[in-house]
Amino acid sequence: MIVLKFGGTSVGSADRIKKVATLISSGEKKVVVLSAMSGTTNSLVQIANYLFEKKNELAAQLIEGLRTQYHGVVEELFAKDDSKLLMKELIKSHFDFLQGFTQDSFTIHEEKAVLAQGELISTALLHYYLKEQGISSCLLPALQFMRIDKDLEPDHYYIKENLNRLIKENKGEQLFITQGFICRNAYGEIDNLKRGGSDYTASLVGVATKAEEVQIWTDIDGMHNNDPRVVEKTSPIKQLSFDEAAELAYFGAKILHPSSIVPAKQANIPVRLKSTLSSGSLGTLITENIEGGGVKAIAAKDGISAIKINSGRMLLAYGFLRRVFEIFELYKTPIDMITTSEVAVSVTVDDASQLDSIKKELMKYGAVEVDADQTIVCVVGDFIKNEKGIAADILDKLRDIPIRMISYGGSNHNISFLISTSDKERALKSLNQLFV
Ligand code: ASP
Ligand code: MG
Repeated sequence: MIVLKFGGTSVGSADRIKKVATLISSGEKKVVVLSAMSGTTNSLVQIANYLFEKKNELAAQLIEGLRTQYHGVVEELFAKDDSKLLMKELIKSHFDFLQGFTQDSFTIHEEKAVLAQGELISTALLHYYLKEQGISSCLLPALQFMRIDKDLEPDHYYIKENLNRLIKENKGEQLFITQGFICRNAYGEIDNLKRGGSDYTASLVGVATKAEEVQIWTDIDGMHNNDPRVVEKTSPIKQLSFDEAAELAYFGAKILHPSSIVPAKQANIPVRLKSTLSSGSLGTLITENIEGGGVKAIAAKDGISAIKINSGRMLLAYGFLRRVFEIFELYKTPIDMITTSEVAVSVTVDDASQLDSIKKELMKYGAVEVDADQTIVCVVGDFIKNEKGIAADILDKLRDIPIRMISYGGSNHNISFLISTSDKERALKSLNQLFV
């Protein structure tokens, strides 16, 4: 079994859906996980927001706009009149369901059901398109096997039992199609794996079916060694270890949802990043192996705030850091980077929503400084602890950039720097010289 996940742009138009169909219709047994067509989930979020704000008129307009868009896709995708008719009926049921909320009450419980419509429609479009082409496939409803528990963590046992049962019930089938992102929660209600969660679905499906490989198909030919939006000459990385990929995914490489690495790593299932635009190229293979040394990639994450707590109390004291961390825990704000000195500690966060309250609490312990508009630049590779000179090479490239924080030694494969976002472009371009 292999698992292939196609993201929103890969199913973003009738043409792109046709392309996916050609990529999946041969060979071995596979589960295909789809996102919603690009833009759809954002529109559904907007519809839910209008409904919350009781702007039902605006919600209704947006729903109709989306309905028209999908009718266009059906017209382009299907050749036969009876398939078009069938698909329009199906689309009608989804959009009538959405319109229902503009007439009725809308609560937090229905929001997740609204957000689920995109994946339900995209998978139906592909399934029926394959059918029209005479290719047999089986639609596996994610809401019948994908589940999270009370702590919002995947319920691996439930997923495994139910997914394999559904696959067994369709023994002769080679091609299974399912929805990414959507699931049920511990109470059986419709929920989701958070934005971008289709990658996570793919990896959970891979683990549950003991797949040989999980393939994440996007528009980019793998994880690149630097940010292609900022730096001109970047190239795809052939191989990464799970840990290296996790660092990169978290610190900026938008191509893969960071949580999707965890289950794949635990079950040791290789993850391959491939491009629908150049399906022949190898992309990036993520495995447990650490191959090659030195710097492999650079990523950057914007929107970071740095907080420095300067306190005489830290000097020769114990328990000070715990008290600082407890404040962040109280406000459910994760910390990314930490550096300490004997009289001060600096941390970074990417969620600044609770920062005012956090700052007030921290001020009990000393002077607090907050800097917004910061960027974490993360250099990833295999920096085995006895290897000399790598840190010096990297720092040399940042010679002209003011550095606010440096974090080295947390793991063997990451050196991170905090700089002002206005210096990011310069920093990434200069660090790119490490690859020449
Ligand atoms: N459709 C969902 C989103 O836009 C999930 C995904 O695409 O991964 O967040
Ligand atoms: Mg995505």
